[in-house]
Amino acid sequence: MRCYDCLQEARSDTTSIGVCSRCSLATCENHARVRQVRVTHQNGLGASHGRIPARRVICHTCDMAETAH
Ligand SMILES: [Zn+2]
Ligand SMILES: [Zn+2]
Repeated sequence: MRCYDCLQEARSDTTSIGVCSRCSLATCENHARVRQVRVTHQNGLGASHGRIPARRVICHTCDMAETAH
């Protein structure tokens, strides 16, 4: 698959490394942001956090939209 952001910039020579967890579009190494996220486990008393962080791929566009104020 090709990176959607690269296609927008008329660059078609890149290969995607993953899929954005928000918009589900393919994104390449340059446009992807890989974030570590804490996993919440529900139990009888409430919620606890897992010891091992999970991973989430988000594209440049969604990352900017999430962090913009
Ligand atoms: Zn790209
Ligand atoms: Zn996205």
